[in-house]
Amino acid sequence: MITVAHEALENLVTEMIGRAGSNPEEARQVAHNLVEANLLGHDSHGVGLTAQYMRHAKAGTLTVNGHVSLVSDNGAYLLLDGNMAYGQVTGGEAMQLGLDRARTAGVAIVGLRNSHHLGRIGAWGEICARAGFISIHFVNVVGHRPIVAPWGGAEARYSTNPYCTAVPATDKNPMFVLDMATSRVALGKVRVAYNAGKEVVEGALIDHNGLPTRNAAVMYEQPTGALQAFGEHKGYGLALLGEILGAALLGGPVTDPAQQGRETICNSMLTVIVDPKGFGRDIPFADAIDSMLAYVTSARPGEGVDKVRVPGEPERETGADRRANGVPVDPGTWALLVEAGVEAGMDRHDFDGIAG
Ligand code: NAD
Repeated sequence: MITVAHEALENLVTEMIGRAGSNPEEARQVAHNLVEANLLGHDSHGVGLTAQYMRHAKAGTLTVNGHVSLVSDNGAYLLLDGNMAYGQVTGGEAMQLGLDRARTAGVAIVGLRNSHHLGRIGAWGEICARAGFISIHFVNVVGHRPIVAPWGGAEARYSTNPYCTAVPATDKNPMFVLDMATSRVALGKVRVAYNAGKEVVEGALIDHNGLPTRNAAVMYEQPTGALQAFGEHKGYGLALLGEILGAALLGGPVTDPAQQGRETICNSMLTVIVDPKGFGRDIPFADAIDSMLAYVTSARPGEGVDKVRVPGEPERETGADRRANGVPVDPGTWALLVEAGVEAGMDRHDFDGIAG
C-alpha cells in the first residue's frame, strides 16, 4: 500500500480534475468529496474514480462546470435536473435547495434526476443531519452495463442502487448514518480484490452460469458474471425501490437495454427531508434514540468482535485513523492515478513526491 496525507491527495486530485476542464471551485469540491470517501474507509468511492471522471469529462458524458436546473416546484416538492454535471456539485445544490424548503414547509421532497455520479450518498445525508434534519435517500445508477443480478436471476440487470438515511446527533450520540449499496459488496471492493489477486467474500458474486463464486475476475473478464443483492430477496426489493422512487417517480432514466452501450455513471436520487420536530416538540425523540442505542449496543460482542457498533461508527473510526496516519492507496489504483495525471500533462514527480 502507498500512504498519502489526505491534504496532499486532495491537492493532487484537484489539479487533475481542473485539467479535465473544471473551474478551481468545482475541482476542489470534487477532490474533497473523493478524498473524504477514502478517509471514511470507502475506497470504492474515493480517488480511484478520478481517471474515470476525467475520461467521462473528455468524452462529454459528464458536463464540467454544470449545475442543477429547476424542472418543477410544487409546495414541498422540488424537481431538479442534474444535467449530467458532477454529482459533487449537483448533490450539494440539491441539499441546499431542499433544506431551504424544509425550513419553511417543515418537509421537502427533492427529486434530482440525471446527475453524474453522486459518490458516497452519506455525504448528502450528513449535510441534512448537520442542519438538524432527517433525510432519506433512494438512488438508482445507470449509464453503463448492469452489474447486479435480480434475486433468482443468473445474469445482471441493474446496478448497486444505494440507500441512505441520516439522523441528527443527540446530546449523547453522534449522527446516525446508514449508507449502503444494495449489492452484497460495492463493485469497487471487487476491483480492489481483483487488483490484489484476492478472493471476494462468500455470497457476493455469481459467474456467467449463475453459480456462486468468489473469483473477482467474473466482473472484469469475459464471460462476465454479476454481483448479488445484499440480504437475498430483501436487498433486491430495496434496490428496485431505488429504480421506482429514485428514478421512475422523477422522470429519470431507469435500468433498461438502452443503458448497455453508454460509458458514464448516471444517478437519480429522491431525497425526503424531514424536520424531527414535525410531529410535535413534546416527543422525546433524541432521548428515545439514546436509550435504544444504549440498550442495543450493550449486547455481548460475538467471537472476534471487540464491541457492537452503530451505523456510521466504522466510518468515524477509520476517519480518525486516516486523518492522523494518511490514506492507504493500493498500487493498482495509484498507477491509474499517475497514468491519468501524466496523460493530462502533469509531472510524474508530482505523484512520487507525496507517496509514502
Ligand atoms: P458498507 O457495507 O461498508 O457499510 C454500509 C453501512 O453499514 C454503513 O452505514 C456503515 O456505517 C454500516 N456498518 C458497517 N459496519 C458496521 C458494523 N460493524 N456495525 C454497524 N454498522 C455498520 O458500505 P457499502 O455498501 O460498501 O457502500 C459504500 C458506499 O458506496 C456508500 O457510501 C454508498 O452510498 C456508496 N454507493 C454509491 C453509489 C452511487 O451510485 N453513487 C452506488 C453504490 C454505493
